[in-house]
Amino acid sequence: MNTINSFPIQIEKTKQSRLSQVDFQNLKFGQVMSDHMLVANYENGTWTDVSIVPYGDLSISPSLSALHYGQAIFEGIKAYKFADNTVSIFRPDQNWDRFNKSASRLQMPEVPEGIFIEGLKKLLDVDRDWVPSLTGTALYIRPFMFATEAALGVHPSISYKFIIITCPVGAYYSKPISLKVETFYTRAAAGGVGFSKNAGNYALSLYPTQLANDESYDQIMWTDAAEHKYIEEAGTANLIFRIGDKIITPHGDTILHGVTRRTIIALADKWGYQTEQRNVSVAELLEGIDNGTVTEAFAAGTAATITHISRIGYNGKDYQLPPVEGRDFSNKVLNYLDDLRYGKIEDPFGWNTIV
Ligand SMILES: *Cc1c(COP(=O)(O)O)cnc(C)c1O
Repeated sequence: MNTINSFPIQIEKTKQSRLSQVDFQNLKFGQVMSDHMLVANYENGTWTDVSIVPYGDLSISPSLSALHYGQAIFEGIKAYKFADNTVSIFRPDQNWDRFNKSASRLQMPEVPEGIFIEGLKKLLDVDRDWVPSLTGTALYIRPFMFATEAALGVHPSISYKFIIITCPVGAYYSKPISLKVETFYTRAAAGGVGFSKNAGNYALSLYPTQLANDESYDQIMWTDAAEHKYIEEAGTANLIFRIGDKIITPHGDTILHGVTRRTIIALADKWGYQTEQRNVSVAELLEGIDNGTVTEAFAAGTAATITHISRIGYNGKDYQLPPVEGRDFSNKVLNYLDDLRYGKIEDPFGWNTIV
């Protein structure tokens, strides 16, 4: 697409910035929201009333259809501040594209580039000072859309709200995690909604995750719905393995296609690793851990970029992965992406979108 439908965006700035009350040294994820949000309404077949307004409560009807039938989707993106105070969003075009795929699957309207991308840039321009500058910190961006028709009939809503809120987040140094291979519950089935970033995918994961927590695992390693034989993803992140000399990641429409996963595979390709996107069976992974060919295993997602996996439990037996220090591929990815996203090195891929 080469023409951007531009939308007039009304801007109403807050009279009382909360910025000075924020303790940037101690940010808890998703607790403190920036001063402004972008809001747009979909009515009578078109997007209208695109505006940037002070962050605040919404007034909703108890019969709001999203609350009953779950037409609700979202995205997660991060923006970073360079040493010279430039604000840069990491690959928002990818999230825009995925957002509209999620929308189509749930029979919701697509959000045009003029609102999603241009609106986001304008919002970050207004809240530029909310992008934290300490090493490892970022501004987390949450675009979302939900059905707003006030009626209980089951049908696609005739109206929707698209909103972008943002929050500064602290350095996310994630400890290595343990995963339980799930052999009963399922996250996604062929033909279902697993590839879309919809609210329901998260709701359904909470109970099985609690059961895994009770058995001392941090997260679930989801497997295919039909046979529980093939690995899909971990909690709310994609899985990537280094098996022998290859970088391998599960594929298909039952996984959510993460921007981080895609980014890491592109880097591996560029650095000359052999990469494969294919089915990975539980048996292949566990045998590989036992015979030492699986040297790295990690979850990939926007929140932490890379979360190393230390231990995998399957049918009551634990499999221990090699120490994190020796994992040169994933550690190299982390360092490279940090340098790229904070503008310390050249951006050969054009992944940084400057505000
Ligand atoms: C968001 C998400 C991911 C990771 O996607 P990124 O674009 O890399 O953040 C992976 N799995 C699920 C289920 C997700 O919701």
